[in-house]
This record gives sequence, C-alpha cells and structure tokens, in this order.
Amino acid sequence: MPTAQGTPPVVPDFVAGPKQLLIGGKWVEPTSGKQIDVINPATGQQLCSIAQGDATDVDLAVAAARRAFEGEWNRWTPHQRRKLLLRIHDVVLDHFDELALIETLDMGAPLSRTKGLKEWTSQVLQFFASQCDSASVSAPQNSLPGHFLTLKHLAPVGVVGGIIPWNGPLIGLWWIFGPALATGCTAVLKPAEDASLSVLRLSELLLEAGVPDGVINVVTGYGADAGQALAEHQDVDRIAFTGSVGTARAIVRASAGNLKRLQLELGGKSPDIVFADADLDKAVPGAAMGVYTNSGQVCVAGTRILVERSVHDEFVERMRDFAKTIRVGDGLDPDTQMGPLISQRQLERVMHYIGVGGGEARLAGGGNRLGGELAPGFFVEPTIFAGASNDMTIAQEEIFGPVASVIPFDDIDDALRVANDTPYGLAGGVWTRNLSTAHKVSQGINAGTIWVNCYGVLDPAIGFGGTKMSGYGWKGAKEHVESFLYPKAVYINLD
Ligand code: NAD
Repeated sequence: MPTAQGTPPVVPDFVAGPKQLLIGGKWVEPTSGKQIDVINPATGQQLCSIAQGDATDVDLAVAAARRAFEGEWNRWTPHQRRKLLLRIHDVVLDHFDELALIETLDMGAPLSRTKGLKEWTSQVLQFFASQCDSASVSAPQNSLPGHFLTLKHLAPVGVVGGIIPWNGPLIGLWWIFGPALATGCTAVLKPAEDASLSVLRLSELLLEAGVPDGVINVVTGYGADAGQALAEHQDVDRIAFTGSVGTARAIVRASAGNLKRLQLELGGKSPDIVFADADLDKAVPGAAMGVYTNSGQVCVAGTRILVERSVHDEFVERMRDFAKTIRVGDGLDPDTQMGPLISQRQLERVMHYIGVGGGEARLAGGGNRLGGELAPGFFVEPTIFAGASNDMTIAQEEIFGPVASVIPFDDIDDALRVANDTPYGLAGGVWTRNLSTAHKVSQGINAGTIWVNCYGVLDPAIGFGGTKMSGYGWKGAKEHVESFLYPKAVYINLD
C-alpha cells in the first residue's frame, strides 16, 4: 500500500484486512462469496477488494434494519439520539486522519481536500444532533366543534435505503446516516463500487460509538445488482439517492412497487457568470476552482463559465495561467491540489469529451492526459475551452472532469438566457461588484444554490438541492430532517 508521511498505523491493517458487509451489527461475508477489486486511481494498481453484495444480502440488511426500527431503537428518546450523534462526532473526529487517508487512497482526492472535510463533518454532525427534537409532539389549537385535544407529531418513515456515488463518500454518507440517526429511522447504505472503503471504516467507528445493531447497515456491491435490489425492495420506505440522471430514472421505476418516498440529488451543468466589473483577481481562481476542485468530479461544479464579452479574452488568458499553477498528482503528496479521476472508465469518458470539445470550441489550455511519472494513474490536465457556445455538447452534457467551457455573453439578459438554457438546475455563481446585478442574477438563475463572489460554500444548516433534472429533495437544514419523518395527527375526544 502506498503511504503518506505520518500514516496512522490502523490504515495499512484496515486496507489489508477483510472488507465485509455490515448487517445487523455484524460484519459478514457476502452470500455470493464474490469480491470487487479496489483500484487506487493514482497508481492504477489494485489496493484491495471489497465484498460484492447482491439482492440476497440486501434482503438480509433490510430485514435487520426493520427489526431494529421496530425494536428498542424505536423507544430511544431524542435526548439519547442526540447524545449518540455527539459521541459519533467525537469518535469520528478523533479518527479523521485515517478516514481522510483511506478516502484519498480509494478515490484519489488530495489529502488537503479529504483532511479539510474534518471541519465540515463536525458541523454536519452537530447540525443533525441539534435536530433530534424534530419528532416531538405539538398540539396546535383545533377548530373542531366539540371538545377535542389534537396532537400532531412527526413519526420516522422507517427503513431508509441510501445510494451514493464515488465522488465524496465521506460527505455523501452523512446525508443518509445523519437524518436517519436524528429521527429514529434505520438505514441500509449502498456505497459506490468505486469508492466504499471510507464508508466501511467509518461504519466500524459508528459501532464503536454505540450505534445499536441493525440501525446502520452497509451493503457494498454493484448498482445494477445491490442498488437496484434496494430501490425495488418492498420493505424499504424511502430511498435517498445521489448520482446520475440515468440511474435516477431506474430508481424511480424500481421504487414504484411500494411507492417509496424518494429524494434524488443528481447532476448539473452549473453556470458561473463573470461580469466585466468583477474583481478578476478573485473571480479567476474562484471560477477555476469551481470547476477543478476534486478534478471536476463535483455535482455543483461551475463548468459553464459565462464571461462578459469585453473581458472574455483576458479572463481566458488569466484562467489558463492560473490552471498551469495547479499541482496535479498523487493525493498522498501534501502539495497536490488536484488528484486523478476515479477510474479508467471515467478517464476515457473525460478524454472523449475533450476530443469532442476540440472540434467545437478553441482549446485554450490543458486537454491532455498526464503521463510520465504519473502514468498509469488516471490524471487529466485542467482544461479550458474558450469562445464556446451553449449549444455545444461540452456546454450541455455533464463531463464530470476538469473541463471548463468559457462562453461569452453580452448583457444580463443574455447571461440569464444562457445560464438557464440547460436541463439542470443545481447551482450557479455570479462575480460582480454591482449589488443590483448580483441580486438580479441570483433571482434569475433557476437553480437550488447561487454563490455571489464565491463558489462551492455549503452550510449544512442551510442545505442544498436542485430543480429541473438535478432532482428533488433538500439536503441539510430542517427540510432534510423532516423528509425522514411523516406527519401524524391524533384526535382525542375529551367528552
Ligand atoms: P451513478 O448514478 O452511476 O452511481 C451512483 C450510485 O448509484 C452508485 O452507488 C451506483 O452503484 C448506484 N447505481 C447504479 N445503477 C443503479 C441502479 N440501476 N439502481 C440502483 N443504484 C444504482 O453516478 P456516478 O457516476 O457514481 O456519480 C456521478 C453522478 O452523481 C454525477 O451525475 C453527479 O453530478 C452526481 N452527484 C450529485 C450530487 C448531488 O448532491 N446533487 C453529489 C455528487 C454527485
């Protein structure tokens, strides 16, 4: 196993050890006995393997989650659940260096990024701990004739199936486990086959922190197999899915059997709009990192950079110079700013789009797979296409790699027309010194999150979500917690 300076000793042992499924509080082998190879994307070499769970294992995990939901866990008070979340907070933060290193080895993000998630993890856990009272009873005045006492409370929906992608498991899992633990639901999580290791290590820590048996279950495996089985399962009450639009469609169909509640957080082609009056010293690195963070494998990536025509050429030149300074390499190197793509498949996909872009717009920077010392890892240069137009393939389709399309615009109306000319509605940004422009653009972009003179900031207490084909449901904030609950009214006749 490649190591970083100061590697916590538990990591090599974890990587070398068996990776099983977590079902009913026990680590068990998959019934198929099969394994999936885990590839380190920085080296292209096999790191270890994980269990290939399938429909039979999903059945067992859902049954365990149901038993836990109907058992002792159901009687835990909000106070007990809050204490558990705060204990998890402490245990997870104590082990965060391990988790960050495992995530870096598994999916390639630089240690500077994975370690940087510690503060965010602390915030997200404290937020969900603060939400444990959401299920408490309220007794609004009623307007019924007669003498009634009416109670209205929010009850946990039951067993929640979580399906998450590979681009940030240490973020994605909290959007399932956090609200489940806060509300008294139970969960079965199917992490992505390309990045499950940090979820497995974190689940060991959850048991250590005292999560009761069966409350949290993890079935690793392929989407078409374990994921599909979870989405179809008749005893799963809700699916919280993060991933691509194509998979979301399959999940919508699969969940129809028992009319599961759904939360779908999907892709984007977010516009990041730079006006001529913007402070380019901030807008250039801000918009560039809005695309290149996590090698462009970010759902909210601002991949369409709309630049007012009068500063388009200057912006492109400065962005190209900035992109050249980004240190691309193995995430274990503390100086690395951009790691590899997740897999050979993703590398081929991104290189395909770069080829398409070359025939559509002007390649102003990057565009190559990085070889040499970095081969055979899955590295691609930060890439810029200039003078693009919104009808081009590279401006319409989610590439999920470090590829920016810079599109010139003439005025606010033009910028908004182009910004909204996309099937997605996840996020957007605006860079300007003019307050009125900032407000007009924020109101005019049809998307769930708008950043003004910044990009990618996320407060769990505010949350985020999408519109149009970026899905529905809100992650974080009270809305998220309430979506794990259903309202229940009790009328008591006092006469
Ligand atoms: P994906 O849809 O291929 O896979 C996501 C998960 O779904 C994986 O765990 C996969 O195994 C599973 N899956 C695949 N087929 C399935 C099926 N038929 N039934 C059930 N589950 C199945 O997505 P990906 O390529 O891993 O991730 C990238 C996508 O995720 C991008 O579109 C990105 O924008 C999106 N994403 C969105 C957000 C958000 O919050 N909006 C966050 C991160 C990523």
